[in-house]
Amino acid sequence: MTNTSPDRRDTTPPSGRDVLLLAQIVDLVRTGVANTRPDLEQATGLGRTVVNERLREGMDLGILEEGGTAQAERGRPSRTVRFRAEAGLILSAGFADNSVWASASDLEGVSLARTSADADVLDGPDVVLPIVDAQFRALLKRVRGRDVWGLALGLPGPVDFASGRMVAPPIMHGWDGFDVRGWFRNRYEAPVWVDNDDNLRAFGEWAIDQPHDVRDLLYVEIGEGIGSGLVTGGRLHRGDTGAAGDIGHFRVTDDPTALCRCGRTGCLAAVASGWGLARILTAAAERGDSPLLAELLQREGRIAGHELAAAIAAEDPVTMAAVRRAAHLAGLTVAGVVNFANPGTLVLGGSALRGTDLFFDTFKAAVLEQTIELAAQHLVIRPSSDEFEIGTVGGALLVVRRLFRLDALQLWLGAGTPIGSAVRIQQLV
Ligand SMILES: [Zn+2]
Repeated sequence: MTNTSPDRRDTTPPSGRDVLLLAQIVDLVRTGVANTRPDLEQATGLGRTVVNERLREGMDLGILEEGGTAQAERGRPSRTVRFRAEAGLILSAGFADNSVWASASDLEGVSLARTSADADVLDGPDVVLPIVDAQFRALLKRVRGRDVWGLALGLPGPVDFASGRMVAPPIMHGWDGFDVRGWFRNRYEAPVWVDNDDNLRAFGEWAIDQPHDVRDLLYVEIGEGIGSGLVTGGRLHRGDTGAAGDIGHFRVTDDPTALCRCGRTGCLAAVASGWGLARILTAAAERGDSPLLAELLQREGRIAGHELAAAIAAEDPVTMAAVRRAAHLAGLTVAGVVNFANPGTLVLGGSALRGTDLFFDTFKAAVLEQTIELAAQHLVIRPSSDEFEIGTVGGALLVVRRLFRLDALQLWLGAGTPIGSAVRIQQLV
């Protein structure tokens, strides 16, 4: 791949204290806190000569460039300095609805190109990761000439964030302990982060929400599986090992027939997930409780996905009751989390919302029924903004955050690119 950065001066790269100061300046410019020389001097407490030297280095490295002119409140107008978001490229991908959704973004996390393809995570990493890689390659053809500076992948299950590996996913054979991060780093030489997909969706929803900087956000996914992600204080809450947010296995019923995939009984996922509802409605069809379900089962051979949607559209009473119960139990469970975490925004996403308001409305009512008044006071409850691609928004944002943390900048800024420092950048806690 070619590097499109401006011609670099043939000088020794900055090191030590110079890199630290440059990292501070890049951070101030990138985040929009200061973008003129006088403002940078004031924000850092550094003298004009030092600021100018560091800016020159930042420009030589292709990270910064001269911008337009800013009108100062007093005195002469100042030239601005600009962060070059086009200096590198971020690739991010996630799974939804038996497909992989991939995006190429600039260093501000703005998507430049998107693509998707059929992919079933149950086929295992040996089949699925090459499909993800093919989508990334297709995106690189569309945004030619940029180096990949970081990658993010969201996976539907428990992910040990520090190592980038899944840990004992209940049904995803072949993924347990698989080195997803190493697989991609061997191909791209850039830092790779692997996270639970609901964490990335939470981050994406938080990023597009306004004003996101002052509101904690809880994202709840109810689709084929159930999970959640929490952004608090502007950061994803992963917990000690990355398991935070796994609400699918809250015990919600004493019903001994509510068998869960985790091996226990009575879990929320057993009664409210896509597969849980399919199991309940298939049993109802077999018992002859609903003529419509019985007919669908006989004709289609199963009751899931489209068949479920058809039964809802026909307002089949047995289906409506099961969906209402699922949404109610999910709402009561989430109310407990809302009481505990006190988010400003609660977002519900996943295929449970498809084609009907019944699930969302019942869920919202149950949340409000069980949420204490102080936690409910300013709570905004809304459906997901984008069922499929919001995870790639969160993934790109995760990479931006990780690459441009001060401790990460100090590792790679002197070289002008994180390629080559991938392992050390990933190891930062
Ligand atoms: Zn369970």
